[in-house]
Amino acid sequence: MGNGILSLSYLIGSVSFIYGLKMLSHPDTARRGNLYAAVGMTLAIFATIFLYTDKDGVGLGNYTWIFAGLIIGSIIGTIIAKKVLMTAMPQMVSLFNGMGGACAAIISIVEFKHMIHSGVTVADEPVLTTVILLGLVIGTVSFTGSMIAFGKLNGNIRDKMLPMQQVINIGLLVVIFSLLIGIVTGWIGGDNPMGMMYALLAISALYGVLFVMPIGGADMPVVISLLNSFTGMAAAFGGFMYDNSVMLTGGILVGSAGTVLTVLMCNAMNRSLLNVIVGAFGGQQGGGATGASGGTYKEISVSDLAVLMLYSKNVVIVPGYGLAVAQAQHTCHELEKVLDQNGVEVKYAIHPVAGRMPGHMNVLLAEADVSYDKLKEMEEINPEFSQTDVVLVLGANDVVNPAAKKDPSSPIYGMPILDVEDAAHIIVNKRSMKPGYAGIENQLFFEPKTSMLFGDAKDVLNKLVSEIKSIA
Ligand code: NDP
Repeated sequence: MGNGILSLSYLIGSVSFIYGLKMLSHPDTARRGNLYAAVGMTLAIFATIFLYTDKDGVGLGNYTWIFAGLIIGSIIGTIIAKKVLMTAMPQMVSLFNGMGGACAAIISIVEFKHMIHSGVTVADEPVLTTVILLGLVIGTVSFTGSMIAFGKLNGNIRDKMLPMQQVINIGLLVVIFSLLIGIVTGWIGGDNPMGMMYALLAISALYGVLFVMPIGGADMPVVISLLNSFTGMAAAFGGFMYDNSVMLTGGILVGSAGTVLTVLMCNAMNRSLLNVIVGAFGGQQGGGATGASGGTYKEISVSDLAVLMLYSKNVVIVPGYGLAVAQAQHTCHELEKVLDQNGVEVKYAIHPVAGRMPGHMNVLLAEADVSYDKLKEMEEINPEFSQTDVVLVLGANDVVNPAAKKDPSSPIYGMPILDVEDAAHIIVNKRSMKPGYAGIENQLFFEPKTSMLFGDAKDVLNKLVSEIKSIA
């Protein structure tokens, strides 16, 4: 009876994950989708705690430990999620993703110990051993890799390339697979492979660090979604290990969604996954190094821009990371409404890697109730720039850098960009001439059609809205 209800709870949990994930594909339903999946997860957790029994009919027990962990974890998670700034969201996602990887790795360690101490040898259970060790390796790589990604996004760790880094990384991968095969076949470790399991753990942890360390600059989005899919895979191995359908479904969903996102991000950057992993693209300069001066630039005042915009037929806004830093999404929406009231058509050009996490700009603008219909993907908006009167670049830099098209020596060469150069006037708002995330100078700022509007995006937009209102 209990097991029937448990299976039903798992089925409801799995369906809620799938349904919730589907709802995440549109901003209008995303919040509800998240809630449905969370309810399904909560049901699956409590059903496991109270209804799970092993083959001898013994329940989980250990309720004090389980609830202590649940309560402490829930309090910490809630506080972090409530306090986190929108701009620090990518770091938080990396941190939480790493925690998922660590959980999967710990489950593998516990289950491996359990298996060996209960007298079962690796030779008796080669499939189970393979699943446990794959969960251990992938979960550990995801944990240490995500911690490095967290440090990089948070600005604590700079991209670092060791001499012969790729050779070392490939060497470590060979050692990891040799150890894994050696343990499963009994060639290494024999009847007591505990020591070898810990060696595998340590080398996987080192590989996670060295794998993410040199990848930087514009390639971080790919790494983040790849680490996401690793955690999903590691959780799926856990589900297989425990014959737990809801864990398996959840893991497969995260793993496959992460893999699809990785492929999409690679396409958006026009790079192969292998190229990202071994290329260390933008790695040497990433994280905000200043570039050499590229010439002279001109500035525009808020009042001149207000007049220019009011005399335009259409304006395209290019949001970037700086818009999120300034938390200027609401003011930006206000600008759009004021222009709209004055007969100026406004659209937003969304680059797939703008900001610091996949979908960052969509989330940011949805928060300010910007209509989804006004958000145009790169492929859709690029042909429209040649008929655009004014492009307003708000805190974006790398995603509008023409070096990606024109300079084969540039680390972002080949990445598709928003073709803002085709518009009649380009106005760039940022606080200084400093480069963006990839750490490279942007020639767009020195083009004759470009005018710089320096200042914090929120301050500048507030002034611009007041100015337009006063003269309209
Ligand atoms: P960039 O990081 O290239 O540029 C952002 C610009 O915003 C900076 O040049 C900065 O200039 C300006 N800025 C910062 N604060 C403010 C402010 N308060 N007001 C106005 N401007 C401000 O951003 P993009 O969105 O163009 O590109 C994203 C980059 O991040 C890409 O290289 C991408 O690969 C990378 N990345 C993306 C991830 C993703 O998943 N989307 C994940 C990790 C990295 P200044 O200091 O002069 O103000």
